[in-house]
Amino acid sequence: MLSKRIRALSPSPTLAFDKQAKELQQKGHPVINLTLGEPDFTTPQHICNAAIEALQKGETHYTLTAGILPLREKIAGKFLKENKINYSASEIVVGVGSKQLLYNAFQVLLDENDEVLIPTPTWSTYVEQVKLAEAKPVLVPLKEPFKLKAADLEPYLSPKTKIILLNSPSNPTGAMIEQDELIKIAQLAIDKGIYIISDEIYEKLTWGNEHVSIASLNEDIRKLTITINGFSKSYAMTGWRIGYAGGPQKIITAMSNLQSQTTSNTSSIGQFAAVAALTGTQQPLERMKNEFSKRRSFVIHELEKTRLAFTEPEGAFYFFIKTPTNSKDWCNTLLQEQFVAVVPGEAFCTPGYFRMSYASSMENLEEGLRRIKQFITHY
Ligand code: PLP
Repeated sequence: MLSKRIRALSPSPTLAFDKQAKELQQKGHPVINLTLGEPDFTTPQHICNAAIEALQKGETHYTLTAGILPLREKIAGKFLKENKINYSASEIVVGVGSKQLLYNAFQVLLDENDEVLIPTPTWSTYVEQVKLAEAKPVLVPLKEPFKLKAADLEPYLSPKTKIILLNSPSNPTGAMIEQDELIKIAQLAIDKGIYIISDEIYEKLTWGNEHVSIASLNEDIRKLTITINGFSKSYAMTGWRIGYAGGPQKIITAMSNLQSQTTSNTSSIGQFAAVAALTGTQQPLERMKNEFSKRRSFVIHELEKTRLAFTEPEGAFYFFIKTPTNSKDWCNTLLQEQFVAVVPGEAFCTPGYFRMSYASSMENLEEGLRRIKQFITHY
């Protein structure tokens, strides 16, 4: 018999939909896959070169569990310059994608019956990881345009609330938290001694408002916050599996200790590549961002011609769009009839919507939207 923990786990619904799309593709159907949350660009060449160089130099051994010092120093420099948070290298841990750091953070902070406030729509991983830590995810439903306010959290607070999860810009909505609300959320957390886990993986992909890190607001909130980030989205490095967390020394050391008994360090070669990502030219990033921006404008333009209701995303590379009917059925039928794969809102604890990623080529988006338009004329 499998453990209770694993029996209670729901596997990633996005990956499940992606699998269905791939199966149809293998059968020869012309599938347009708009499910996945990864840039369609390959990793910039200078980053790949740094990995090759590390291999040639024999950097093929275990590293410190928390990551090589030059990388943690560069991450500390990045936090200071871009996020205005002062972390020392020992307040940073590098791991196997930000997913692992999130997992570690929940594991080291949560006990049975502790509660974590998770605003929805949300990425399902948070919910499942909280359950894996034997704690309780408390969903905080948001209304369109899905911008979290401190007042949304208040009715869901309890003496058991241990963590508030923030994800701005958000997967799946692209919504961002306004700075005045971030200040109020920080004050609420300070007053009640609640930890914040702030997943800032989409910080560089914003289309107007600048991203603000909650830990930069003041020293009191810095002491309660674990800031999660990684190289996957901003540097097109999803396959390399390099993420990092900054936070109070005690928590970061605990996360590193946990990692020392699970995966140990993430790939040594990848860590050297990550150093090059931070120190080398940032031009490829700008190019990717411009391309995403063009696609976003294109999708807005095309969606406006339909009767589908949506809010323009402020960040990340997703649209979260209302479905005219039951979202699961709608998405399934769209896949079966038009071979366009998108993810139903059920996967983000918010039925009645679907998530469409625009981290896909312009041709795919053009064709995908053409088919969606065709589909809604007769569905
Ligand atoms: N956080 C959010 C909000 C995401 O959408 C994703 C990936 O889809 C991740 C974290 C995981 O990224 P990583 O590749 O760093 O594990």
